[in-house]
Amino acid sequence: MTYVIGAACVDVMDRSCVDVCPVDCIYTGGRKLYINPAECIECGACEPECPVDSIVLEQALLGEGAAAEEIAHVADNAAFFYDVLPGRDAALGDPGGAAALGPVAADTPLVAALPARES
Ligand code: SF4
Ligand code: SF4
Repeated sequence: MTYVIGAACVDVMDRSCVDVCPVDCIYTGGRKLYINPAECIECGACEPECPVDSIVLEQALLGEGAAAEEIAHVADNAAFFYDVLPGRDAALGDPGGAAALGPVAADTPLVAALPARES
């Protein structure tokens, strides 16, 4: 199990979650942040920090009642790391720390295709 960032983060990206993550496993993409499922230790510290309630436990999303578009973000958070993102030559894999990697100027195809958030 891991925590997952859903669609509400798109175009918000205030990074409140990044500041509290003890293992630095929340990575910044072009329009959204993504949690590395192999590096997350499931401490839950990030969940209450999100101003748009975008962070949930994977298990909660996979239970009954979750919307299909939110369930898609379980696989999509992983895809950010293990698929080759548009414009890149190789998958990110498990980088071992978001600060050292820095922001990644790419998103998964699912996130890139989401409409711009209205402010
Ligand atoms: S649950 Fe803990 S380890 Fe996982 S992303 Fe959130 S703060 Fe980081
Ligand atoms: S706190 Fe929420 S909105 Fe802000 S970057 Fe993290 S997941 Fe995105």
